[in-house]
Amino acid sequence: MLFRLLVLSIVIGEVLGEYKNYDGFKILEVNFENPRVKKYVQEFDKNLGFMPDFLGENWKKKQAHYFINKDSVEKVKTNLVANNITYQMRDVNPQIFKVRRRRDLNGAITINDINNRYLSYDEQMQFLNSISQQYPNDVKLQKLGNSFEGRSITAVRIGDDGSNKPIVWIDAGIHAREWISYNVALYLIYTIVSQPAYRDLLNSVQLVVVPNTNPDGYEFSRTVDRMWRKTRSRFTNSRCGGADANRNYPFFWGTQGVSHSQCSEVYCGARPQSEPEVLALTNAIQREETRIKGYIALHSYGQEILYPWGHTQRTYPSDVEDLIKVGRAMASAIQAVNNTEYNVVNSGDGLYPAAGASDDWAKSRGIKYSYTIELSPIDDYIGFSLPEDRINQVCREAFQAIQVLMIEVKSKFGIKHSTSSVSSPSAQSSLLLKRMRTTANRGFGRGK
Ligand SMILES: [Zn+2]
Repeated sequence: MLFRLLVLSIVIGEVLGEYKNYDGFKILEVNFENPRVKKYVQEFDKNLGFMPDFLGENWKKKQAHYFINKDSVEKVKTNLVANNITYQMRDVNPQIFKVRRRRDLNGAITINDINNRYLSYDEQMQFLNSISQQYPNDVKLQKLGNSFEGRSITAVRIGDDGSNKPIVWIDAGIHAREWISYNVALYLIYTIVSQPAYRDLLNSVQLVVVPNTNPDGYEFSRTVDRMWRKTRSRFTNSRCGGADANRNYPFFWGTQGVSHSQCSEVYCGARPQSEPEVLALTNAIQREETRIKGYIALHSYGQEILYPWGHTQRTYPSDVEDLIKVGRAMASAIQAVNNTEYNVVNSGDGLYPAAGASDDWAKSRGIKYSYTIELSPIDDYIGFSLPEDRINQVCREAFQAIQVLMIEVKSKFGIKHSTSSVSSPSAQSSLLLKRMRTTANRGFGRGK
């Protein structure tokens, strides 16, 4: 009976739950191709007296997107006009704030669900449990720690046979509102273990996927505030909670592109690794960092593959050409799926540098190929709420990119297996990778 009451209350909670009201909020678009405008945008906080919530940018249109609080709309307009900046203010897409939480309490979560809808954290965990039961030799679940509210941060280890194979590490959703990243990670796990074509690759490279690195934030974004980005840490005597976990990593922490104010969307936390989620992830990575050769943090949106360093501008690792080459091979693999274009750029060289991000930290620990991928879309009207009928395509595209990285890690660091033959999808990506081994241009980037 107690259980039934509990289930009932969850269902009612889901039905009655209403999102935070964002009526009157606007999306601001500024074209920053002109250097004068770019400078203005870079000093937005000085010009306005506060930093508006940066959503992303459209690299094709050289357009920066901000979410403007309804109480600030007039002030922002006046300031833009006074500085002779042309801009567009758009209404927020009402679809974003439509609560779409369908739930089948009896049904098992299948790949069909991953391809077609956004799942709750519990559903994600249910899916991982069923995958690990279905493929007990290939999939091991590893608890890395707990979130602030006590949810498990779970890593999925694929192809862990106890050997010293190189590892590719993928983590998703450190920013709660970037929902597509969770589905991409779950799709990756399912596809690579269920299709025999990837057996050969997994014999040489181990994959570790952390499909939900910010479960508290994600659940909050699903049920209370669709635009929530941060963790859900609470602070004494503060009206604001949460830190930007992707500003909380211990590398040039708190220096650029962050805020030390708890109410900011880019609050970097009281100290490096103050967030339990970040502490769990950094501890886990450090335990096997000499074996990890590839790292990708999945974010949205913007269709970009970002490489370090991101904590400052015009500063690159000594092997940056390798990062660019593999980044461009990943972009080509994505484009081959359905002609979706991703830009390969340095994290710090765009609008803003951002210190304390996970890709910078991973690179600083010696992980050779370290990236942040901003998944689809590129357009701010859809932004973080990629329609569910587009989930599958983004998953398939990102899968190809991750496969390219795994093949590169295999060829550079993998244990040689003389007997295995290369299966067709791998062979395709190998060819692609070879074709892409040309000198790449440095594009125009941004802080994420
Ligand atoms: Zn993000």
